Amino acid sequence: MGFHTLDDVEVRSRRVLLRVDLNVPITDGKITDLTRIKRVAPTIEELSCKGARVILLAHFGRPKGRISSENSLKKIVREMEKILNCSVHFSEDCIGDKVQTAVAMMRDGDILLLENTRFYAEEEKNDPEFAKALAVNGDIYVNDAFSAAHRAHASTEGLARLLPAYAGRSMQAELESLENGLGCPIHPLIAIVGGAKVSTKIELLNSLIDKVDTLVIGGGMANTFLAAQGLNVGKSLCEYDLVNTAQAIMIKAKSEDCTLVLPVDAVIASHFRENVPYHCHAIDSIPVDGMILDIGSKSIECINKMIDKAATLVWNGPLGAFELRPFDLGTVQVAKRVSERTKAGRLISIAGGGDTVAALNHAGVAGDFTYLSMAGGAFLEWMEGKSLPGVRILENKRL
Ligand code: AMP
Repeated sequence: MGFHTLDDVEVRSRRVLLRVDLNVPITDGKITDLTRIKRVAPTIEELSCKGARVILLAHFGRPKGRISSENSLKKIVREMEKILNCSVHFSEDCIGDKVQTAVAMMRDGDILLLENTRFYAEEEKNDPEFAKALAVNGDIYVNDAFSAAHRAHASTEGLARLLPAYAGRSMQAELESLENGLGCPIHPLIAIVGGAKVSTKIELLNSLIDKVDTLVIGGGMANTFLAAQGLNVGKSLCEYDLVNTAQAIMIKAKSEDCTLVLPVDAVIASHFRENVPYHCHAIDSIPVDGMILDIGSKSIECINKMIDKAATLVWNGPLGAFELRPFDLGTVQVAKRVSERTKAGRLISIAGGGDTVAALNHAGVAGDFTYLSMAGGAFLEWMEGKSLPGVRILENKRL
């Protein structure tokens, strides 16, 4: 790979500044999903077992440069201790004298979590002085937070300029999996893109057309493409101002020899609500007062046939309003086929993005995919073919 990993460095007795993603969801003060902590646990454990002094850097929420108890990482400590099965010390700041004292007291194998880096506005500005204040506490920098790598912040990019820099195990796994997805994939390569709007995914669609053999477009965003073909989409979510953009994407797909797959039928209801009456209609006979909330059974069949022919699949965005039953069916049925093909060893499947993870969890198949990225923005930017600053700096360090 184009970056150094933990295999390339001796860490015993060295102070390792480890950037992790601990931005777990919290509802009513309770952590509702521990996946992010679990993902970085192997790197923390490996470093600690090898005798490093592990100093954790992370952000939490969007405090925008202000200290707030709501965004304190202190509330994560107990859960981390349970997952790591050892003590995690906590420092109420991420720079300054207190931190330096706490670091000086660390023994080999100790783990110290520093307070939210975003309590300083300088973090998001990638301020060099702030990066230096972070760097004084470490001998080595390890980045294990792919999900924050699309931002050039002090703890994700600036620090790597100042210290020897390495990818942690979770970052390594993410980059290796993504390389298999779009970097140098096995063809035929299929992409599924769904979700609400075309406007948020124009760059994504244009970039995918250059790379994939088949591009499936579903979800609300497919409606704009249907309208661009002159079809009536009734009361459905549709960005009529982007009809020309959709047409340009369709023309590009044709010239790039990329097969574009749009729904051939749809599940229609009169309201965006759970358990409302619904009917399946062919795509050229959508009622004027109808709303497309999911792909229909013929579309599911067609997409699943395409999946059967593919060797690699990348997926972002649900194919329907999956939060509302029964409009989850299209996403669930297609997700199940991906799961079956992956388990049979016939498909490399990579999915990511917030709603996609939720949709695949809902389908009960999230664990069956070859790789499921927890990163939202970073995953999308990677799918768009962009170079992420936090990854780029690790690669530059390798040169
Ligand atoms: P995104 O964040 O762009 O991936 O969009 C995800 C959202 O798209 C989910 O909340 C879905 O409910 C919504 N969505 C998917 N298909 C439709 C549809 N046909 N009509 C309205 N919303 C949809």
